[in-house]
Amino acid sequence: ISAVEATQAHLDRIADVDTDVHAFLHVSDSALDTARSIDERRASGEELGPLAGIPLAVKDVLVTTDMPSTSGSRILEGYMSPFDATVVKRSREAGLVLIGKTNMDEFAMGSSTEHSAYGPTRNPWDLGRIPGGSGGGSAAAVAAFEAPLALGSDTGGSIRQPAHVTGTVGVKPTYGAVSRYGAIALASSLDQVGPVTRTVLDAGLLQDVIGGHDPFDSTSLTDIWPSMADAAREGARGDVLKGLKVGVVRELSGEGFQAGVQSRFDETVALLQKQGAEVLEVSAPHFEYAVSAYYLILPAEASSNLAKFDSVRFGMRVQPEGGGTVEQVMAATREAGFGPEVKRRIILGTYALSAGYYDAYYGSAQKVRTLIQRDFDAAFAQVDVLISPSAPTTAFKFGEKLEDPMAMYLNDIATIPANLAGIPGISVPIGLAPEDGLPVGLQIMAPVREDARLYRVGAAIE
Ligand code: GLN
Repeated sequence: ISAVEATQAHLDRIADVDTDVHAFLHVSDSALDTARSIDERRASGEELGPLAGIPLAVKDVLVTTDMPSTSGSRILEGYMSPFDATVVKRSREAGLVLIGKTNMDEFAMGSSTEHSAYGPTRNPWDLGRIPGGSGGGSAAAVAAFEAPLALGSDTGGSIRQPAHVTGTVGVKPTYGAVSRYGAIALASSLDQVGPVTRTVLDAGLLQDVIGGHDPFDSTSLTDIWPSMADAAREGARGDVLKGLKVGVVRELSGEGFQAGVQSRFDETVALLQKQGAEVLEVSAPHFEYAVSAYYLILPAEASSNLAKFDSVRFGMRVQPEGGGTVEQVMAATREAGFGPEVKRRIILGTYALSAGYYDAYYGSAQKVRTLIQRDFDAAFAQVDVLISPSAPTTAFKFGEKLEDPMAMYLNDIATIPANLAGIPGISVPIGLAPEDGLPVGLQIMAPVREDARLYRVGAAIE
């Protein structure tokens, strides 16, 4: 089919279902024009890449010149970026057709999209349930067939956990494998951009487009990467599971994990063994401190990153009655522009970084981070990949965890360690939980730079 047909079909689908799903904050009005020009280029004999003409949904944390970029926040309502994020630029160059911007928790803080300033996204599997977060919009768009491919960002699980609860594939690449330039920063040492798709091969094709060195991101790795799509094809074809050493992380199962999530996971482990994988249990003793360390490091970095929303440089400005000093304008703007979760984290982070508390909180958290990295090093000395359920529960109901931040934070228990260590992780669907009929994902983690291994193993399992 032509790019115009593919694009039109997805625009129609959005028109049909998005009033219910609310995956999109903005739908492109130039997508069809872009698609037409791709068709013309192809008709004129130009060699285009494998994803040319395919619609792509983009999480609103990534800045775009032709659509507003709000990061789910009121403070950036209507904000137009003067430049494209590198991943957006590369997607356009590969001929992908940007179809719209997807909903997310404000500044990517959350696990349910309930913290979006523009209302939540609903899970296409059950409209009374959350689609995960923070990238619930991208995952729901892919799950609801509103887009075949999407981009997300993952700071503590925001690609993998939404993939888990929507039955899609989500990849958090190695830290530095994909450029963060133009991704509105949450926590710069943890953030990573990656694909959300329906198959592992699709994700590989997309990572091949967006990945690789970017001089505009000082933490971007200069590695020459193998093709992730080729790795996925190899995995789907060959017997890569034979002799593969797979570690089951003891700390990421059992207590706190929903019965149906655990049973699907156990079945997958049995299947892996049947296919010739060597499965052993490995322990990561410091993972129990991962969420605590994360909720010091993340707010600390976020409080610093969000200082730029000062009513002068970007977005909204609220003028208090009678004028006001610079500080009063700033305070009024931040009071009106930020939601409650963002304020909570700014306060936490500012506290953790303040003189006298820095060593006790931020310093200790950084030490825990090192211990978690060592847990991974020790584990990967024994096994090729580590596996766990991608999250402890299936999609929960709206409101269930909204009043209890700790309960919300703990939904990321399985995904956070990979961000703290900078290693890559993928979530692939492994069926539905028997008790509620909702999707369950398997998380696979590999050592730093071994993204291709994830695609190989992920494609063999899906
Ligand atoms: N849910 C986690 C948080 O609230 C992860 C967010 C993310 O990965 N962006 O911080």
